[in-house]
Amino acid sequence: MRTYQLFIELAKDTEIQVGKLGKFSFPAGNYVYTGSARKNMEARIQRHFSKDKKLRWHIDYLLNSPHAQITDSRLSQKEECALNQQTNGEIIVPRFGASDCKNGCGSHLKYFQ
Ligand SMILES: [Zn+2]
Repeated sequence: MRTYQLFIELAKDTEIQVGKLGKFSFPAGNYVYTGSARKNMEARIQRHFSKDKKLRWHIDYLLNSPHAQITDSRLSQKEECALNQQTNGEIIVPRFGASDCKNGCGSHLKYFQ
């Protein structure tokens, strides 16, 4: 398994600077982030749950908000972009988590209320 999804709850409307991508208004609600790890999946998931880390990926900036919390994480055998495209939701931040996506996802973060 190398693909995972994080289910994230944002308790209130929040403005977040997502690294070099820019500053965005994230509406309160639920988000699904689809990512992958070539190895050390456990360590990757644990890292997402940790609030104490150097911000590196787009998702780190969202999870760094005191209003954001991971409510669930799931592993999958599916290919990252295929799984992301099967996930319903609205794109709030174009290119989020998709800097190296070559499958036209638009974003690897989906929002639903
Ligand atoms: Zn993709």
